[in-house]
Amino acid sequence: MYGVKPRRAARQVLVGGVAIGGGAPIVVQSMTNTDTADAAATVAQVAALARAGSELVRITVNTAEAAAAVPQIRERLAAMGIDAPLVGDFHFNGHRLLRRHPACAEALAKLRINPGNVGRGSKRDEQFATMIEFACRYDKPVRIGVNWGSLDPELLARMMDDNARLAQPEEAAVVTRKALVASALESAQQAEELGLRGDQIILSCKVSGVQDLIAVYRDLAARCDYPLHLGLTEAGMGSKGIVASTAALAVLLQEGIGDTIRISLTPEPGGDRTREVVVAQEILQTMGMRSFTPLVIACPGCGRTTSTFFQELADRIQSYLRVQMPYWRGRYPGVENMRVAVMGCVVNGPGESKHANIGISLPGSGENPVAPVYIDGVRTVTLKGDNIAAEFQALVEQYVRRNYAPEGVKQAAHMEEAAER
Ligand code: SF4
Repeated sequence: MYGVKPRRAARQVLVGGVAIGGGAPIVVQSMTNTDTADAAATVAQVAALARAGSELVRITVNTAEAAAAVPQIRERLAAMGIDAPLVGDFHFNGHRLLRRHPACAEALAKLRINPGNVGRGSKRDEQFATMIEFACRYDKPVRIGVNWGSLDPELLARMMDDNARLAQPEEAAVVTRKALVASALESAQQAEELGLRGDQIILSCKVSGVQDLIAVYRDLAARCDYPLHLGLTEAGMGSKGIVASTAALAVLLQEGIGDTIRISLTPEPGGDRTREVVVAQEILQTMGMRSFTPLVIACPGCGRTTSTFFQELADRIQSYLRVQMPYWRGRYPGVENMRVAVMGCVVNGPGESKHANIGISLPGSGENPVAPVYIDGVRTVTLKGDNIAAEFQALVEQYVRRNYAPEGVKQAAHMEEAAER
């Protein structure tokens, strides 16, 4: 792909059947915000995230009740036909929870261990070792997930002291970045010494600043061949969270760094958790790295679009495509590559519509009230009247059936259409 550096060579880790690294497509993952002990709520949210396209879903395992709920959550998801692997997020008491709830370790596809939160002083190594032993016993991969907000204080203090003794000490921010990378690499080495295989380890070093994240991951990528999980931690709410995550991840992905991504958005109160999945997919799709859902190309509108009709149509088509995708995914292979243009007037409308698989150019103010539709670059029909939105949606659906259905299904559909005529 033009301008994109080849993916950094990383060993491949299998997480419940999902390949991460080793040239596999970049995996989208997400995390629930339900109380894991509330199995019903967690099952519902994992299912929603998986249906939105999350290929792995992480759940927090913070209490005995949460650990006890994990096997039930896995079973209930399986009964619903949801097989997205579950990742357990452990902090502080993970060693105890795994010891007392081995079925939890068994039900999970991966453990996430934060080396800054496994214990202090002499207990740290022992508790870390217990968690790695469980990963080895149940043959589970581990993400060693370092976080800026919970960086191992002893390691940081040691590195700060060493730095202070230098003739020309580095800035504290630089030492902190180095400590993040050192924490991940030292913990990975320790895990391997304890018996975890190299192809069972994924690393992450999350920070909340865009430039810090880029610097940390460049360093990490150059110093190991473990697959890397990318994400800007505490990205924030709304557009700020989306823009900051995109800015950071786009630079790294363009450099071939990153094997799985998660977008840590803070949802609005009552907001939809699946938004983080949509944003992750859109980053990868707009960068041309993977396709998930047909893309809607819409102009921003201007003084030529005086009514809200154009925005409503763009929104309707975008929502329609996303809602259809879980159903279309298995039935219409390749539909995720379709491009649909919804344009506000004839200035750029016909041109953009011709470049799309199917496109509509609505009438701008003062223009003839007709909406030409282009299919595969050819002006095919002209819609007018009060029903343009529904008619265009029907044309999109017809396009999908005609172009993406497997041959046998296509022929049956043609025969059905002919019989109806
Ligand atoms: S295509 Fe037309 S309506 Fe859309 S931004 Fe351009 S001039 Fe405005």
